[in-house]
Amino acid sequence: MVKIRPDEISSIIRKQIESYTNEIEVENVGTVLQVGDGIARIYGLENVMAGELVEFEDNSRGIALNLEQDNVGAVLMGDGRSIQEGSSVRATGKIAQIPVGEKFLGRVVNALAEPIDGKGEIAADESRLIESPAPGIVARRSVYEPLQTGLIAIDAMIPIGRGQRELIIGDRQTGKTAVASDTILNQKGNGVICVYVAIGQKASSVAQLRTTLEERGAMDYSIIVSQTADTPATLQYLAPYTGASLAEYFMYTGRHTLIIYDDLSKQASAYREMALLLRRPPGREAYPGDVFYLHSRLLERAAKLNDELGGGSMTALPVVETQEGDVSAYIPTNVISITDGQVFLSGDIFNAGIRPAINVGISVSRVGSAAQVKAMKQVAGKLKLELAQFAELEAFSQFASDLDQATQSQLARGVRLRELLKQAQSSPLSVAEQVATIYTGINGFLAPIDPSDVREFLVGLREYIATNKSRYTSIIEESNTFTEEAETLVKEAISEYTEAFLASR
Ligand code: ATP
Ligand code: MG
Repeated sequence: MVKIRPDEISSIIRKQIESYTNEIEVENVGTVLQVGDGIARIYGLENVMAGELVEFEDNSRGIALNLEQDNVGAVLMGDGRSIQEGSSVRATGKIAQIPVGEKFLGRVVNALAEPIDGKGEIAADESRLIESPAPGIVARRSVYEPLQTGLIAIDAMIPIGRGQRELIIGDRQTGKTAVASDTILNQKGNGVICVYVAIGQKASSVAQLRTTLEERGAMDYSIIVSQTADTPATLQYLAPYTGASLAEYFMYTGRHTLIIYDDLSKQASAYREMALLLRRPPGREAYPGDVFYLHSRLLERAAKLNDELGGGSMTALPVVETQEGDVSAYIPTNVISITDGQVFLSGDIFNAGIRPAINVGISVSRVGSAAQVKAMKQVAGKLKLELAQFAELEAFSQFASDLDQATQSQLARGVRLRELLKQAQSSPLSVAEQVATIYTGINGFLAPIDPSDVREFLVGLREYIATNKSRYTSIIEESNTFTEEAETLVKEAISEYTEAFLASR
């Protein structure tokens, strides 16, 4: 068999001359020169657009990405096993798009927005381009509403606002996905629509997450876009854009959305694989030069829209995996510079049993404090500083033999504050619960409690407040302010419950 190559097109030219007729060809049709590894090289298709959908003879589709002088490189949207070399390809005249709509809520779809949960077809309301431009400056307003994650450490010290992009970064198995899934669980009843995009994950982890969301009734307001590790790189590359388009539908109809890209490191390597097969020149760490653009154009789609556009929002929590905590590698630095802050998860902290393993010292949120709930601002102001001082003091005190009273009590408070920030997975806390918890810790009310009992004590205290001081909860819920009355109620609860707690020991 003669192998056709992009640069050996003489046989095609000869064939075309032989079959030349006077009819004008109206359709934009080409011929497959090469197919393999999820890529097809196509001869012809002179008028194809970058990003245009092309259709192969076997009805499978691809997207034209490389428009070169003598051929077109297209990525396949399927496995491409039944595409024959020499078969024809038709340009559809449409830029790649997916169906979107209300009915996607509660569903699991792939990168082409096709259902993969066995629950049948999804009726679409409209279709959206997979790659649509981000809203411009005029279309936006600055971030001002909070997006509560339900995790004290984040909501108190690294607050996230609706429309913000906050990176979740850390080594493997440090609880990145857990932070994301807890945030989804915490949106229950808030009217925030969540899209979780799994890129290159194990099917079992995605199934696990789906089960958690289903059990907690969180699938009702969520969509999972899943393109697992065993699927073509091209589809893993597309999945985040698909997720963004699904979320955009809700954002442009005036609703708040949260999108999680888990994770962009895997998307970057899928893109690298694809780009190298398309013969795009590799650069630093063998990524193609435009890998920055890959993530920037995705994350720019997160926005807080202005009132004329309905005031909807898209908050993005991209996840990036680091190697040995190295945030200075290529992909992490790229994404850090694109986002509005990062939540850094540390392997050391995780292994020391402090979970969520948030490294408070190097985590930041650049826009979210404008959106922090007032009650939280009132109590949490000192928390970050106190913890930073404690970390320093703790390192230093390891070498000191006798410490003065003030240092000892600062250490004692620090140990308890660290306990206070520990939170079990899938147990997000409401604003009222968080405020009461922080208030207790920051004002030294945990002093009589043994550090190892702190977590148990706080769980009990929160229950006590919920049942006996419900007035406190409604003050916070209604006014979002830690009023004097609220403070009095919390103080009462603390003294009553502490007495009971210590008596039971
Ligand atoms: P990967 O790199 O594999 O994606 P990851 O960083 O997303 O991992 P997770 O899968 O979220 O990490 O969590 C790793 C493990 O730690 C899981 O077994 C999870 O149950 C556990 N874990 C996460 N958060 C907590 C927590 N707050 N308390 C207790 N265990 C937790
Ligand atoms: Mg994970």
